[in-house]
Amino acid sequence: MSGEVVLCYSEEPELALDLVRLARHATPADGSRVHAAVLPGAPADAGERLGKAGAHVVHTVAGTAHTDPHATAETLKMLVSAVSPTLLLVASTKRGREVAGRLAGALDLPAATGVTAVRVEPDGVRVEREALSGNAVAVERLVRRPAVVAILPGTTAPSISDGAAAEQKAHTAPTTAPLTERTEVRPKAGGQLEIEKADRVVTIGRGLKKKEDLALIESLATALKAEVGCTRPLAAEAGWLTDDHWIGLTGHRVHPKLYVAVGVSGAVQHLVGMRSSKLVVAINKDPNAPIFAQADYRIVGDLYQIVPALTKALAG
Ligand SMILES: Cc1cc2nc3c(=O)[nH]c(=O)nc-3n(C[C@H](O)[C@H](O)[C@H](O)COP(=O)(O)OP(=O)(O)OC[C@H]3O[C@@H](n4cnc5c(N)ncnc54)[C@H](O)[C@@H]3O)c2cc1C
Repeated sequence: MSGEVVLCYSEEPELALDLVRLARHATPADGSRVHAAVLPGAPADAGERLGKAGAHVVHTVAGTAHTDPHATAETLKMLVSAVSPTLLLVASTKRGREVAGRLAGALDLPAATGVTAVRVEPDGVRVEREALSGNAVAVERLVRRPAVVAILPGTTAPSISDGAAAEQKAHTAPTTAPLTERTEVRPKAGGQLEIEKADRVVTIGRGLKKKEDLALIESLATALKAEVGCTRPLAAEAGWLTDDHWIGLTGHRVHPKLYVAVGVSGAVQHLVGMRSSKLVVAINKDPNAPIFAQADYRIVGDLYQIVPALTKALAG
């Protein structure tokens, strides 16, 4: 089982670092090698950061930057020939899922997307992913190698660094006619919030009595330098906040350092979207609210008393 070779790629620099860290944890320390791909258009320091995150080898590819998953998959196919990986890790972003599918199809490899845990075992690659609307975890084994695994954003592991500088390799991208071109990126009518990238989130649920009271939550969020999130009923039913604030199974998945849930019951469909938060604070008047089972700090009481007091204390 030693001698694993993992090739990691994501178009999102931070997620690429997470993939490298996960790869180091998913494979035997003895004899395994983690390779990272830096494709055209990546930030100038991407290679250096991947090395610090634990990549043994960084492959920097020169060429034209594309948003086309086909062109990305063609470049990765070239690296697969050069590296002969036993496992390919991509991030399960919209583009990453397409790239994973294309690679797996073109090379006839097993693939899994939306993966929340991955481990190389003697009889294959063991992956976990959500099932039954987030109520269960499905454990699956990819029995043939190499395998393509797309990791759900927010799945992280601590860095393992050997202190040695990563080996650097240079490549040129194959000439590929893209199948799709991005012609425009237009701000959405409902807002431009990218809550999945927020470091701190204050989420409000149906504990809030009326739309005007959102000002209380916005003040707390400002004091914490946080973005405001919400449960589905507040966006989809009440329309008090736009869809880009909505967190959960059918909304956005967040993985902030701090998640403050205010008047949120903790339905499983909501928990799926915030489970990867590092520190969770819950404020709820019901001591038996399920959200408390997810919380590191539990505040039982009326949000109309607690939120202003907290905001005042933070501002003072
Ligand atoms: C297919 C499907 C997909 C779904 N997807 C999502 C999703 O993506 N995201 C999502 O959020 N939901 C989703 N839902 C809905 C989900 O099941 C819950 O209904 C929803 O999350 C509940 O929202 P809530 O916590 O705001 O409201 P509630 O469940 O009504 O909870 C309100 C909470 O506020 C507390 N409270 C009330 N007053 C106060 C007060 N004064 N002070 C403090 N606490 C107070 C109550 O004790 C209660 O715990 C989905 C449902 C289905 C069926």
